[in-house]
Amino acid sequence: MLTTLRRIVLEFNQEAELDTALAQLVLHVKQAMKTDCCSIYLADYSKQSFLLKASEGLAKEALGRTNIGFSEGVIGLVGQREEPINIANAHLHPHFKKIPHVKEDNLKAFLGTPIIHQSKVLGIISVQQEQVRNFDENEEAFLVTLAAQLASALANAEARGMLGQKKDHGKWVKQLVGIAGAPGLALSQAIICQPDADLSSISLLKANDSQHEKQRFYQAVLKTRVDFQYMSEQLAQILSDDSLDIFEMYKHLLSSASLADEINEKIKLGWNAESALKLIIDRYVVQFESLDDVYIRERGSDVRDLGNRILFNLQQQQQQGHQKQQLPENFILVAEDVTAAMLAQYQHKGLQAIISLSGSNNSHAAILARALGIPAIMGVDPIPLDQLDQQTVIVDGYSGELFVAPDESLQAEYQHLISEEAVLTEKVRAAVDLPTITQDGKAIELLLNAGLASGFEHSVRSGATGIGLYRTEIPFLERQSFPTEQEQTQLYKQVLSAFPSQQVTMRTLDVGGDKALPYFPIVEENPFLGWRGIRITLDHPEIFLVQIRAMIRASINLNNLNIMLPMIASVNEVDDALNLINQAYFELKDELKDGLCTVRNEKIPRPKVGIMLEVPSVIFQLKELAQRVDFFSVGSNDLTQYLLAVDRNNPRVSSLYDAYHPAVLRALNVIAQESSKYLVPLSLCGELAGEPAGAILLLAMGYDKLSMNPHNVARIKWVLRHIDYQRSQVILAHALTLSTAKQVHGYLNEQLENLGLGGFVRAGM
Ligand code: PEP
Ligand code: MG
Repeated sequence: MLTTLRRIVLEFNQEAELDTALAQLVLHVKQAMKTDCCSIYLADYSKQSFLLKASEGLAKEALGRTNIGFSEGVIGLVGQREEPINIANAHLHPHFKKIPHVKEDNLKAFLGTPIIHQSKVLGIISVQQEQVRNFDENEEAFLVTLAAQLASALANAEARGMLGQKKDHGKWVKQLVGIAGAPGLALSQAIICQPDADLSSISLLKANDSQHEKQRFYQAVLKTRVDFQYMSEQLAQILSDDSLDIFEMYKHLLSSASLADEINEKIKLGWNAESALKLIIDRYVVQFESLDDVYIRERGSDVRDLGNRILFNLQQQQQQGHQKQQLPENFILVAEDVTAAMLAQYQHKGLQAIISLSGSNNSHAAILARALGIPAIMGVDPIPLDQLDQQTVIVDGYSGELFVAPDESLQAEYQHLISEEAVLTEKVRAAVDLPTITQDGKAIELLLNAGLASGFEHSVRSGATGIGLYRTEIPFLERQSFPTEQEQTQLYKQVLSAFPSQQVTMRTLDVGGDKALPYFPIVEENPFLGWRGIRITLDHPEIFLVQIRAMIRASINLNNLNIMLPMIASVNEVDDALNLINQAYFELKDELKDGLCTVRNEKIPRPKVGIMLEVPSVIFQLKELAQRVDFFSVGSNDLTQYLLAVDRNNPRVSSLYDAYHPAVLRALNVIAQESSKYLVPLSLCGELAGEPAGAILLLAMGYDKLSMNPHNVARIKWVLRHIDYQRSQVILAHALTLSTAKQVHGYLNEQLENLGLGGFVRAGM
């Protein structure tokens, strides 16, 4: 049954035209379930009705012209209830609506199930049978499973179809909504950035010129063949003939007429070369994987590898095309998955905003975009990238809205909002060097989060009074092997000496989770609950000790280092880490005494050591932890993820990830109260600190320091300088009584508007 299901979904995905795909789908389901009829209805929200799109069994003339209201008939009931409905004789059901022209008089039994994508009913799939009977459990399970698998494919197809259709009329405006990744507005031309050569990340697109696509594919195959020839010649000197067999197999596959024919067939159907390649390679891989023979099954990955190679060459052609074409002065970067490297590459070349089809609010790219003050929209529903290329688009990074090819009046409206935003930014910048003191005299320190990407932060005159979080993992991520003690010392010295009169808090290596070192791969089913942060470094004291030694050596003569430990979940981890830090410190002292250390200064400074509070368990052990360390810093990004059990990078659950969830706010408040009781200095270095409403709440809770990206320091300073501490406490007191995140957001937005600070959280002053 599973194979039948996979085959049906795969075939649905392989079809270029939605109508044909649906027609085939109903036919295949009818055959697989041995019923008398299968139909698909698609929801049309503008008309509040379901449209009969495809059917095997109902009258053909009813297709495309039968609308059933959302609250009409058994179809409407399935949509309303959002669950399968199984009726032995639908004609006797109180909701049955007779529609003569569909000709279903003889179809009695009915089973319908909704097709739901991201909580939205996209359509209904139903099967009907002449015989009066209830469909059995297996049949019901089959249809429900099929509908679930179909949902994202249908959402994809719908998005593809929608853009294409409107463009044909010459003046479409398309409004899409993604996740608001970084605040700000932009209106500019969209430029597409190709992803790495990975077939699985390719979304299916159509092209206008099949002949051109055929030519592109042919060129890519030729180039791939030359690549393989070159590689096998190079490797022949090192490897045995057996090991080189794989290249022979690749070359054989490349020359096989059937592969090329099949891909050309898909191109003829309207797919672009990349999509045609993906469709055929995916089909081969599924075929290989369904075989019993383990050896042959594994050849599936060879085929995929070959596909990725050809894809690489197809993408090279595109990139060469782009390089020939001058980048416009200002542009908005669009990619399947915007990476930190792309941001680094384009940030000084006119980049106005980013649109990433995947990822969410807490993805590395979004965090980096916020740090750079570049508006970002993440996790947009699949859109055909090639249709966006060179289009004028508007990005509203406050709301996550994206307008493609906006008309003149919408452009004028946004131009106005953009100039208002620029005025506000100017005002904020003018106050960057003033102290952070509320209107009624309460002072709070604003610090910088640094180390996210090399070189970014120093370009900004931030107005911060130190570094609250230096993420050391980035230099580790950008290399081919672990950096040596000497290399690390030099790097840390650069950072510490850039802020000689300010405290710099360096966090020890926090890899694992979503940050994997290329030379230290960790493969886990649940990486965020796995080997991460302090867990790795305690298991590898040789890595930890080298890093601590490098940090301490770098701080000699500067004396401004604090060390911070990430992902602490238990007291014993702190004890073990402190023992290692002591060991490193005393070893260095001895080396100095014995003349092994080349430092002239007699004194090696002893850094303060603190921990990050980001695993919920520590909230209940603050007393014991307070006895051991010099400071606490809350990592609200991870604390939110672990408290709410929501993966911070998963767009599917991104609406559940919310640092304003009452449970998170109450936890932050408890931490503040307990830290004050045990006299431990407390800061917060997650994204919440850099948000206007978050900063007001944290001020009221009593946090001593807020650490944020360079772009936000000036904005938060402005916000805090325009509020009373007493007023913030009233706001906090009420926020803590609310029961849902939605209520909290509503209340805080209202308060920001009342305070005249609304321009920081939405478009316009
Ligand atoms: C956090 O978890 O809030 C934090 C600051 O650390 P990171 O985002 O690097 O995990
Ligand atoms: Mg963290």
